[in-house]
Amino acid sequence: MARANSRDRELRERAAAVIPGGMYGHQSTALLPDDYPQYFERGEGAHIWDVDGKRYLDMMCAYGPNLFGYANPQIDAAFVRQLGLGDTLTGPTALMVELAEAFVAMVGHADWAMFCKNGTDATTMALTTARAHTRRKTVVRAKGAYHGAAPWCVPRPTGTLETDRAYQIICDYNDVASLEAAVAQAGDDLACIFAAPFKHDAFIDQAEPELAYARRARELCDATGALLVVDDVRAGLRIARDCSWAKIGVQPDLSTFGKCVANGHALSVFVGNNKARNAAAKIFVTGSFWFQAAPMAAAIETLGLVRETDYLERITGLGERLRDGLAERAKAAGFAMRQTGPVTMPLFLFDDDPDLRKGFCFSSAMLERGVYVHPWHNMFLCAAMTQADIDGALAAAEGAFGDLARQSATLPPVGKLAFLAAGGTR
Ligand code: PMP
Repeated sequence: MARANSRDRELRERAAAVIPGGMYGHQSTALLPDDYPQYFERGEGAHIWDVDGKRYLDMMCAYGPNLFGYANPQIDAAFVRQLGLGDTLTGPTALMVELAEAFVAMVGHADWAMFCKNGTDATTMALTTARAHTRRKTVVRAKGAYHGAAPWCVPRPTGTLETDRAYQIICDYNDVASLEAAVAQAGDDLACIFAAPFKHDAFIDQAEPELAYARRARELCDATGALLVVDDVRAGLRIARDCSWAKIGVQPDLSTFGKCVANGHALSVFVGNNKARNAAAKIFVTGSFWFQAAPMAAAIETLGLVRETDYLERITGLGERLRDGLAERAKAAGFAMRQTGPVTMPLFLFDDDPDLRKGFCFSSAMLERGVYVHPWHNMFLCAAMTQADIDGALAAAEGAFGDLARQSATLPPVGKLAFLAAGGTR
């Protein structure tokens, strides 16, 4: 139920007059339960407060950028210090070189790094670099994998051209035969294979990368001279202190980071090996804000915490506690809830829930109890979460399963996601 007379409601009404559609992208009302707030006032640690003053344990972490807690004092102090010195200047500061050195030291396959703002900037640079390096056109990428919102990869193509997506062959993730067929179809024109570090598509179960698939992608690139790209924008630093595929021993030529690398400050990163260095040096890429120094100062601080703390082991432990606790409570309440993906980036889907009505009901019941979960997108754990937070989320889930049990026979259809029941993903 949309909340009456709330500040959120008032902002939505004002936004409807001055912002097309009132909202855009992942926060649009078309995609989340009606009672989800659209506007927030502040964040601290693992929590966010909506504009009506309600506090939530935030299992979305801003869709990834929050890794060490909102308003992290150490990271934000570095950001503010640099703001006082200079942020957007005529050129970069020395921090850019220091940060490139830090990425090259941290990411096994990386010999160089370049910086931009959004993940889409980095993935688009990877594509351009691969085409410049190979002087070929075709990219093979997996169906349903998100690589950003530029015309070449946006999942909802309104306003873009078929030609924006020319020279792309789509395969099925983790399906070696389909990868091989796509590469065969590219013939002598394969520029690169794009891979998500694991299958983290929206609306469906997540899946770990199969070793045979990752290895075959590497072999096919080696055999054809194409470049292998891992898009680590979403998963980067929540799987490994390296490229996520380092964990399975497969090194790409290029990879992309974003979201959490500066703990919420605007920065994304494109890294690569020496094979691709000349091509990366030749492409013309820039943006008014790409040399901003303050986000780079925040990133240097963030990478320091990545190196020097046990954040990854801690969020993994918290993720396991959440997964085990939820499984137990779902079972006790008689629900088959599938929890997929790495424990640090969980996704919950219910069996027999084609239009996500159970998922929407469960999520709203969690929200009401102060835990912001997502009904169809993977979530994110952050290092500011505590065992007490996870235990609180589990207590909330016990109540939420109870609500779902009481309502499940009479749940209204989720009309806005009817396309799912019809067998489609967006
Ligand atoms: N690649 C992946 C895997 C992503 O998850 C995202 C963002 N969700 C992007 C690229 C694009 O990043 P951005 O939204 O910062 O442009």
